[in-house]
Amino acid sequence: MALTSFDAQLITPDWPAPPSVVAYTTTRQAGVSEGRYAGLNVGMHVGDNPQAVAANRALLPMAQRITWLDQVHKNGCVRLPAKSLQADASVSRNRLHWCAVMTADCVPILLCDKQGTEVAAIHAGWKGLEQQIIASTVTSLVAKPVDIMAWIGPAICLQHYQVDASLAARFEHLENAVRPDTVAGKFCLDLPKIAQMQLLNAGVTKIYHSQLCTYSDPDRFYSHRYAQHHQNAPTGRMVSVIGLA
Ligand SMILES: [Zn+2]
Repeated sequence: MALTSFDAQLITPDWPAPPSVVAYTTTRQAGVSEGRYAGLNVGMHVGDNPQAVAANRALLPMAQRITWLDQVHKNGCVRLPAKSLQADASVSRNRLHWCAVMTADCVPILLCDKQGTEVAAIHAGWKGLEQQIIASTVTSLVAKPVDIMAWIGPAICLQHYQVDASLAARFEHLENAVRPDTVAGKFCLDLPKIAQMQLLNAGVTKIYHSQLCTYSDPDRFYSHRYAQHHQNAPTGRMVSVIGLA
């Protein structure tokens, strides 16, 4: 499906998805939010003016088809359309119900099958990864893992995600997921790498990376960590969307 004018601001996955699949991640460029939320904040729960957030959401391609989850950093996955939307992943085979996850450092992962009949979106921070949100979503799909491709969107990179020893220990069994930081007693955690390994463990081998770090480009991305470090304040959210046209 052809994307329209506003879409120059969007990031689209570089992957061989079939033409029936529409996928994008917003940046903070464009939009009407102001101050610390400046730009295209789509997070209704972060303290921004709700009218601005609603206006921003309305700008998105096929906005009326997007299902906004109530994300809770757990491993729940819902099939759309769903009554309860308290979940961190959604899957859909329905053209009228598109999947979406909001992030600002956590890893957004978009999935589709090569036939273009099913899509999914996953919000994966360390809590969701530890609780196997990826495996939970892949097993919720009708499509077989061998037919699924995945895209790992903009997220905080290893270098910028410093964690303490107790959090690092939760992932030290995964090769290359953790490394010591230059600061004694601190570690760096590689969330995109953990997502990649968990996709592989779930049988998904066609994995594409945005290679974009949310922390490193504050004009382009909302980054929870960056906002904490530089303003000690909340910030906005981007959204990663996938649907069948
Ligand atoms: Zn980074």
